[in-house]
Amino acid sequence: MPQALIVGGGISGLSAAYYLTRLGVRPTLIDRNPKLGGVIQTEVVNGCVIEGGPDSFLAAKPWAMDLIRELGLESEVIGSNDHLRVTYIWKRGRMVPMPDGLMMMVPTRIWPMVTTSLLSWPTKIRMGLEWFRHPASDGGQDRSVADFIRDHYGQETVDYLAEPLLAGVFGGDPGRLSVVSVLTRFAELEKRYGSLTRGVLVEGGRTGGKLGGGSLFRTLKGGLGQLVTALEQSLAGRTQILRGEAGAVERSQNGYSVPVNGEPLQTRHLILACPAHEASGMLASVDAELSQLLGGIGYSSSMTLALGYPRHKIAHKLNGFGFLVPKKERRRLVACTWVGTKFSHRVPDSHVLLRCFLGGASGEAALLQPDGAIVASVREELREMMGIAAEPEIVRISRWPRSMAQYEVGHAARVQKIEQRLKLLPGLHLAGNAYYGIGLPDCIRLGKQAAESAAGLPLRIDY
Ligand SMILES: Cc1cc2nc3c(=O)[nH]c(=O)nc-3n(C[C@H](O)[C@H](O)[C@H](O)COP(=O)(O)OP(=O)(O)OC[C@H]3O[C@@H](n4cnc5c(N)ncnc54)[C@H](O)[C@@H]3O)c2cc1C
Repeated sequence: MPQALIVGGGISGLSAAYYLTRLGVRPTLIDRNPKLGGVIQTEVVNGCVIEGGPDSFLAAKPWAMDLIRELGLESEVIGSNDHLRVTYIWKRGRMVPMPDGLMMMVPTRIWPMVTTSLLSWPTKIRMGLEWFRHPASDGGQDRSVADFIRDHYGQETVDYLAEPLLAGVFGGDPGRLSVVSVLTRFAELEKRYGSLTRGVLVEGGRTGGKLGGGSLFRTLKGGLGQLVTALEQSLAGRTQILRGEAGAVERSQNGYSVPVNGEPLQTRHLILACPAHEASGMLASVDAELSQLLGGIGYSSSMTLALGYPRHKIAHKLNGFGFLVPKKERRRLVACTWVGTKFSHRVPDSHVLLRCFLGGASGEAALLQPDGAIVASVREELREMMGIAAEPEIVRISRWPRSMAQYEVGHAARVQKIEQRLKLLPGLHLAGNAYYGIGLPDCIRLGKQAAESAAGLPLRIDY
């Protein structure tokens, strides 16, 4: 009987397995896909590093770098080329650069806000007056990101900053996403200062204006697939890896019984490192309430389309990290990254690589369309937005149905209830992007925490 069974071989499950082996436990890991990594899938075509899923991680959160260091991959780490960082917003047929000094949607510098054509004068004046807000007595209550940002900076800021930024990161709808769970720091600043602008400037001043320092994003030269390969190598001989479908869980005398390809597997500790909707189905007969709580966590679907071109066929200057398309202006594209500008080592000089992001909260249907129709409509948009008419030499589509958890209003309270149910189920642990953070560093942190808890170490909660 394995001491620990992990369902899910994405970054969350692989991290849990890695840290368990570090703690002297030999786990068993199950994934239904032949290829491990979950949504992390890297392919190199004609020298271009194509990321089907995530392409980088936030440098300010330490857990991904900690793991990379432990795996001996530190020399492979590269940062985003922040000196070239300009993100454009598509507005009324033009690419408008996001003004300097914005921290997400919070303005921290006056002149770029005064001169930008992204926002109208009434919005600019409203942004200036936000400085004078005082903490409200009912501050700290959860509400939608749209309500929160509208309250501080007006509807135009929701439409042209909050919505496109969150659609690009969460594939989410600001009208439903929870400010407490998604913009946690801003919610805290509001409670303390009233004004977000004043709060960001005061707290930024305390950290010398640098929150984390160095590049904003980090990744690996050869793609995030390098991290998956290094994890697999480190697990070889220390973890039993099974390919198959984990089914409905039952409690057994010493823990849990999990059918894998129809055969029951007994385990003392069960780590569900899979999407919450999967965990919900698996736990229906173990704890109906927990199953319901997990099933209530929404997920959005997304898709990436990589298009590669010979350099000489592209006249566009690619002078930035790429662009975002607000929902108000959107047909198909949500965002497009100009990969060679954002990261060195990813695209040879002979090529241009565009990473297009589609889907999100409002575009589920797009995933069902055939490849040809998707490529044709994106090419049409790129022709209009970037003047690119050339035939792409490389085309890769990756579809990710129900893969991005949506932290909707009330998410924190839901997760608290999930934690309470888990206390009644010793040996059951949850990891993944559904609970305390959707990005890779948080998934790694939760995988590590599940491992520590399964190995009997005192639980260290450092959210
Ligand atoms: C397109 C896209 C772009 C992203 N970009 C970024 C980014 O740039 N930076 C960043 O930090 N984050 C990004 N994210 C988010 C981040 O990549 C994910 O949150 C994270 O990788 C999720 O990892 P996971 O292991 O929790 O889940 P997954 O990667 O979804 O892995 C879950 C695994 O569980 C397996 N599984 C599920 N159910 C079962 C079952 N019953 N039996 C057997 N196996 C099962 C699946 O096959 C899968 O392999 C992005 C996500 C997507 C989809």
